[in-house]
Amino acid sequence: MHPSELPASILKWLPVRFNYDDNYFFHKFQCMPKNGYSAMIRAILDHPGITIHLNKSFARAMGEGYDHVFYSGPLDEYFDCELERLGYRTLDFKRFDYDGDYQGCAVMNYGEETVPYTRITEHKHFAPWEEHESSVCYREFSRSAEFGDIPYYPIRQVKEKELLSAYVDLANATRGVTFVGRLGTYRYLDMDVTIREALDTARGFEAKVTDGEEAPAFFVRPV
Ligand SMILES: Cc1cc2nc3c(=O)[nH]c(=O)nc-3n(C[C@H](O)[C@H](O)[C@H](O)COP(=O)(O)OP(=O)(O)OC[C@H]3O[C@@H](n4cnc5c(N)ncnc54)[C@H](O)[C@@H]3O)c2cc1C
Repeated sequence: MHPSELPASILKWLPVRFNYDDNYFFHKFQCMPKNGYSAMIRAILDHPGITIHLNKSFARAMGEGYDHVFYSGPLDEYFDCELERLGYRTLDFKRFDYDGDYQGCAVMNYGEETVPYTRITEHKHFAPWEEHESSVCYREFSRSAEFGDIPYYPIRQVKEKELLSAYVDLANATRGVTFVGRLGTYRYLDMDVTIREALDTARGFEAKVTDGEEAPAFFVRPV
C-alpha cells in the first residue's frame, strides 16, 4: 500500500526509540510459556469436557442444538460474507536452513522497497537458553489475502470499518453465539491480550449464566 493510503494513527503501532533496547514491546515483564505454546494449549485441550473435531469447518447451521456457541472464525464468514469480504493481509512463509547463526536475533525487519520480504525470523533466538548449531529461518512475504488464504492482519481502513459495523449489527441481532478472538472481532491481538480476553469472556459468560441472562454477541466490542 502507498503510505498516503495509511491512516496517521498507524504510527502509534510502531515503537520509536532512541536507545539500544531491541525489544519490540515496552512491557515490564515479557515471557514465553515455559514449555512453549504447543504444550500450554495441549494441556488446556486435555480437559475431559473438551472434544476436538479436526479438519471440520464450522458453519452457522452446525451451531443449532448447542446451548451457546463461541465462534473464533472470521466474523464475515459466519454470515457467509453476505455483505462483502472484510479485507486482510496474508503472509507467505518461505523456510531456509542455515549452518550457524544467521542474523543474531529472533526477528529482523526489512523496510526497504527493494526487499520483497518484510522480515526474517530465526526461531532459535526465541529460546536463548537453548543451544543449536544449525538454524531454521523464515522469510515473510506480505500480500493481500485472497479467498482460501489464511487471514492474518485485518486492514481496518475506513471502508473496512464501515463494513465491520454492518457485520457487528448482524452479529448483535443473532442469538446464542458469542464472537471471540482476533478473527471473531476483526482485530489484531497480541497473545497476552488474547489470553486476557479469553479469561474475561469465560468469566463474563459464567456471570451471565448465573444471573439467568443471555450472553451478548461480543464481550469485547470490535469497533
Ligand atoms: C503472522 C502473525 C504473527 C504474530 N506474532 C505475534 C507475536 O510475535 N507475539 C504475540 O503476542 N502475538 C503475535 N500474533 C498474534 C497472536 O498469534 C494471535 O492474536 C492469537 O493467536 C489469536 O488467537 P485466536 O484464538 O483469537 O485466533 P487463532 O489463533 O487464529 O485461532 C482461531 C482458530 O479458529 C479456527 N477457525 C477459523 N474458522 C473456522 C471454522 N469455520 N471452523 C473451524 N475452525 C475455524 C482457525 O483455524 C484457528 O485455529 C501474531 C499473529 C500473526 C497472524
